Amino acid sequence: MILEDFIVINKTGLFCRYGDFYLDPKEGVKNAVISHAHGDHAISGNQNVYCTRATSLFMLHRYKKFAAVDFHLKTFHEVFDVNGVKVTFIPAGHILGSAMVLMEYQQVRYLYSGDYKLQPDATCEPIEFVQADVFITETTFADPATQHPVAETEILKLNSTQSNIMLGAYALGKSQRLIQLINAYCPEKRILLHHSMMPFVKIYEQEGVNLGKYEVYDRKVMKQNQSNMVYMVPPMVYGSYFRAINVVRVFATGWKHLQNNNELQLYVSDHADWNDILYTIEKVQPTEIWTNHGNGLQLKSHYEKSLVVKLLN
Ligand SMILES: [Zn+2]
Repeated sequence: MILEDFIVINKTGLFCRYGDFYLDPKEGVKNAVISHAHGDHAISGNQNVYCTRATSLFMLHRYKKFAAVDFHLKTFHEVFDVNGVKVTFIPAGHILGSAMVLMEYQQVRYLYSGDYKLQPDATCEPIEFVQADVFITETTFADPATQHPVAETEILKLNSTQSNIMLGAYALGKSQRLIQLINAYCPEKRILLHHSMMPFVKIYEQEGVNLGKYEVYDRKVMKQNQSNMVYMVPPMVYGSYFRAINVVRVFATGWKHLQNNNELQLYVSDHADWNDILYTIEKVQPTEIWTNHGNGLQLKSHYEKSLVVKLLN
């Protein structure tokens, strides 16, 4: 029988009282099961952190000694016990080390998605689907109006200009995916990386991901070469360089409103879009869907006659 309070939401995040742990807590807790290393899912100050190795490496880089008191590193598909709940990490295809969290308790399977994507991405483990009775899914783009174009087609847009490009991208996950895509599809381009992106890039490489060629940004190189340079910077830097001249400004995101001021729109998203969410639900075959992160109303009306959809947030 599905326990309706197996996962509840409170100000600290998603709580499982049966195993006394939080999923991606927003404040430091005793037991944290962390899906992936993005800042809105992995914070510092937790005591026991259950996660994949890549997630721990990103957290250690970002939070140093405050990353966790104790890390409990788990490989994908390894079944482990947290206070009586059986937990397994399943690849989520979002960024390197990202996991869905399968929880089994009293013969019922609850699957927490974290962030996930279905599009191919050579820089992280591809998503895998497992059956679960309850699917707890993010709904960042759970709107039929949102359909992410193919990333490979989007990246070819960069070849439409010879001008130097300033490319804004999140430092973890997105930028590594873009480095790999540019190397594969825009061979004329020379990639310069903002120094703050380097540690994450190095961790990807240490973990065996081949990103291809790039250099650390050097002002002289960018000045001397008036064409085909791509200077990749994190969002904060991108925002502060709004007056940068002689460059085409591009920001890689799935969000339309973040594309408005740019000369060239690059829709590369690391989240599932509407069709991807429906496809995932088809694969997971849940009898109940619980939604968080975003708006689950569209899903609720879509499945009105067939599935229970409960909005957690
Ligand atoms: Zn994320």
